[in-house]
Amino acid sequence: MKFKLSLRVILFGLGLLAVVGLTGMNVYSLYALHESTINTSVDNQKNQISEFAFQTRNRFRTPLRGMRALDMAELQHFIADGKDIPDSLLAIIKRVDEDPLFSGTYFLGRDVDPCQANEPLLHYNRKLGRMVLTDHYPEVVCDGINLARARMKSLIGEYQWNNRLIHDTERSMTVAMINLEDHSIAGYLNILVNEDYLINEFLAPGLANFGNTKESGMTLWLHDWTVNEVLATNDPDVEYNIKKVEQLQRFPDMLENWNIKIAFNENPIIAASNASLMRNLIILGVGVLFLLGSLVFIYTTAQREQHLARRQAGFLANVTHELKTPLAVMQAAGENLADGRVTSPERLSSYGKHIFNESVRLRKMIEKLLDVAKNEAGQTILKLAPNKIDVLVKDYLRENESWIRETGFKIEYKCEKNLPMVMLDTDSFFTILGNLVENAIKYSADDKYLGIDISKDDKFVSVQVSDHGIGIPKSARKYVFDKFYRVENEFTSNTKGHGLGLSIVKNLVELNGGIVTLKSVEGSGSVFTVSFPVIVKPESASPSRNNLKEVPRAEYVS
Ligand code: ADP
Repeated sequence: MKFKLSLRVILFGLGLLAVVGLTGMNVYSLYALHESTINTSVDNQKNQISEFAFQTRNRFRTPLRGMRALDMAELQHFIADGKDIPDSLLAIIKRVDEDPLFSGTYFLGRDVDPCQANEPLLHYNRKLGRMVLTDHYPEVVCDGINLARARMKSLIGEYQWNNRLIHDTERSMTVAMINLEDHSIAGYLNILVNEDYLINEFLAPGLANFGNTKESGMTLWLHDWTVNEVLATNDPDVEYNIKKVEQLQRFPDMLENWNIKIAFNENPIIAASNASLMRNLIILGVGVLFLLGSLVFIYTTAQREQHLARRQAGFLANVTHELKTPLAVMQAAGENLADGRVTSPERLSSYGKHIFNESVRLRKMIEKLLDVAKNEAGQTILKLAPNKIDVLVKDYLRENESWIRETGFKIEYKCEKNLPMVMLDTDSFFTILGNLVENAIKYSADDKYLGIDISKDDKFVSVQVSDHGIGIPKSARKYVFDKFYRVENEFTSNTKGHGLGLSIVKNLVELNGGIVTLKSVEGSGSVFTVSFPVIVKPESASPSRNNLKEVPRAEYVS
């Protein structure tokens, strides 16, 4: 038994451990999955913005395609000979000029500072469709060409391509044209940028294409950090705040004063992942609670079953002993009487009393067993009839008062006047009252008090049986009406009983449509109350048995 119990405790512990472990693992993987979804999603967003920055760079280069195919040595000769620039270059310049991203194209055929040398420049004239020399050009052009010159000084020796693009912030871009035969500069093509177009027609729509914060899960600001100004955004409703910025995207090799600032929010993928995480956690939680509940339920039921089995086994052993003892006493006494060995009137009377007492004990025992058996088989037969409870209690006391007083008990009987009738089976009532009174006597020590109090209210007539005995501990109160249950304490173990009386009481009270309640203070005494429904008067309803079915079932108050 011990082995089985500890095995069950071990298995229960292992089960709990497994549930907790599995739950932990599941929660961990759910969070890991969620985390990786968020990371992937944020990485994806970052990639998209980076891609956009590269697209912007390409946008500047697109009209310049064909530049690599130009023969820069030929261009140099043309310029040296004072000829017009070759058509192949002119075609590119024409394309650039037609592009709304740009607002003017200048060409300088020498490696000098145009402003310093007061060098005239070739300027593309759209009306004429050719390059025209001019002395009037904006300073931006000089800045662009000078920046390119400075940059090319360090680059030109190693450079493998025939042109190099150098951006002067958002103002202009300069193409340095390189004669790779001798690594000399064949000329500079300076192209002014139409800033208005760049911002409003290219970058702003580009950012808007990502969708607003709610749609894309991020807020984007095209920001000029030199003047701390937002030039464009994908969501005008969200005010720029540097504290919100989590990521910064630069434009490669260009637009140095500008960058895209990014604040990440919950995008639809993350929102879906959050919702799914929540859903999974709730389902997991409910499942785990259910599993734990089942485990605990199985464990406690098994424990109770085991207790019951143990109590039943103990009961059988006891009952056999108790049936045999009175029989043996009666047998011996009967034998002596039959032999005629006992002749004196005192001894005859003593033998008679012995046999009588033992047969009463035996009868009670057998009655109790039969009650349980009948109840178990659902065969308790009730003879319900209108009864006055005070009359029944008085009948009981008349029969039993003397032996109760003999045991040293003081009986206090109280009864309200004008009690209504109740529908009751009298045999049941006597068994109920008998069991409660016997218990009050059995489970009292020095303070031998037995209270019987009859009261009424609108619906019930109640009988309270109270004692000043050992009382019932709180933890045991809900079990005392169970079959074979006995409180585990020294007093009870020294008192005869099998844990059947109160289960019979509960069963009979319920069969009679009543309720039984218990109040007890450990060490001070107990009060058992049985209440039976009053008979409903004919004018309000018929006093048939059907009415009795509507009364509440037994309940226990502790
Ligand atoms: P038993 O044959 O053991 O008396 P019962 O079913 O009548 O069986 O009672 C179940 C248990 O409830 C008892 O063993 C006892 O521990 C407890 N009990 C019952 N009545 C009282 C009482 N009046 N005072 C204290 N304990 C009681």
